[in-house]
Amino acid sequence: MASEAGNGAPLVGVLALQGDFAEHEAALQRVGLRTRQVRSPAQLEGLHGLVLPGGESTTMLRLLEVEGLWEPLGRALRSGLPVLATCAGMILLAERVENPSQRSYGLLPITVVRNGYGRQVHSGTFALDSGVLPAGTTGTFIRAPRITAVGDGCEVLARRGGDAVLVRRGPILAACFHPELQAEPHPVTAMFVDAVRAGRSMVGVA
Ligand code: GLN
Repeated sequence: MASEAGNGAPLVGVLALQGDFAEHEAALQRVGLRTRQVRSPAQLEGLHGLVLPGGESTTMLRLLEVEGLWEPLGRALRSGLPVLATCAGMILLAERVENPSQRSYGLLPITVVRNGYGRQVHSGTFALDSGVLPAGTTGTFIRAPRITAVGDGCEVLARRGGDAVLVRRGPILAACFHPELQAEPHPVTAMFVDAVRAGRSMVGVA
């Protein structure tokens, strides 16, 4: 897919070990950003934003270790770059993971229960309650993690039936659902793109 070649637009790295990274790339390219699939540490250089896609977090964890990406990706995630994490990506960032417990970066003070809405049969598109997203915004949930606790320093931007489903801590935005799978531009994708563009103009990158 056309990606990095250059029109000077901001460049977003999309972790591409497994999962729906191609859909994230397409969503970002549709709004004029460049994308780069990240599968090795060198591919983390020179990015203006980073996406951790949905998929299977256990598989991603294994591949992060196999590819020598665990530490370099951790540094990138802590560097202040705008980050969008969806579903399995959110699980990778949570402070505490249950069902079962597994390793994570711990950058978001939340507890997540994997597959916490049940398996495939409970997947689907649901209304979101939010003070910041436009009225009528929905989220597509697929074997989604359920957030069962939110700690200090983490803003809840949207809920589904009372549960937090969109959270932000500093430059990290994380959703239990999949904005990249819906009609574009989804407001959550737009929030991330705004942060990427704002961050880029702040550091004055040519
Ligand atoms: N169930 C997956 C996991 O636990 C997440 C599903 C998704 O990313 N759509 O990793």
